Amino acid sequence: MIRDEFREIAQRALRLHQGVESLEVGAVRPSPVGPIVEWQALLLSPGRQRRPLPGGGHVLGAPSGPDLLAVLTRFMACRWRAGPPHAPSTWADDLASAHPKIFPFAPASHAGWSWLWQAGAEMIEERGIPKGFRTVDTKEKFGSLRWYYEAKGDDRHADNVISCIDHISNFVCEYCGAPGALRKSSWVKCLCDQHAQGKKAFREGEA
Ligand SMILES: [Zn+2]
Repeated sequence: MIRDEFREIAQRALRLHQGVESLEVGAVRPSPVGPIVEWQALLLSPGRQRRPLPGGGHVLGAPSGPDLLAVLTRFMACRWRAGPPHAPSTWADDLASAHPKIFPFAPASHAGWSWLWQAGAEMIEERGIPKGFRTVDTKEKFGSLRWYYEAKGDDRHADNVISCIDHISNFVCEYCGAPGALRKSSWVKCLCDQHAQGKKAFREGEA
């Protein structure tokens, strides 16, 4: 299950990345931070996604594939850390209490993205929180997560982690955290098939 989720989100999130077809998903290994999905992608370009322009040349798109997979791996570890995914109704306040320097207030989204905020906070803390780092706003916009912050120190790692989180949120159901896709009606929402088809009650944080 965890491997299937990993593979599905990875294939969607990296579909325009060069060499993604070489992605192989291996075993799931227990670790202190939760179950780690092992993967390798020998041909995956280490650089950011390059989107060709019609007149020639290219623009830089999504963050690097290996970086995205590292953040996705941590998202999965957070999501499956305590067994089958379940986000308590207090998840946002819990995150603010556990990571007060990262979240001076509770992050604002539905529960499916709780593990994205958590993965981001943990990865930023592990490398050292940049001097003066302060989250200034968190929200959902056009179906994806937005995380705005300020920092005075070297924020390259934090910036990259947050860019990866933003990108991955386009492929994670905002209600339950299962693999999702953007659905457009009067609103743009990122939903799994079950939530999109209304087959599942909009219970928060349960896969
Ligand atoms: Zn869902």
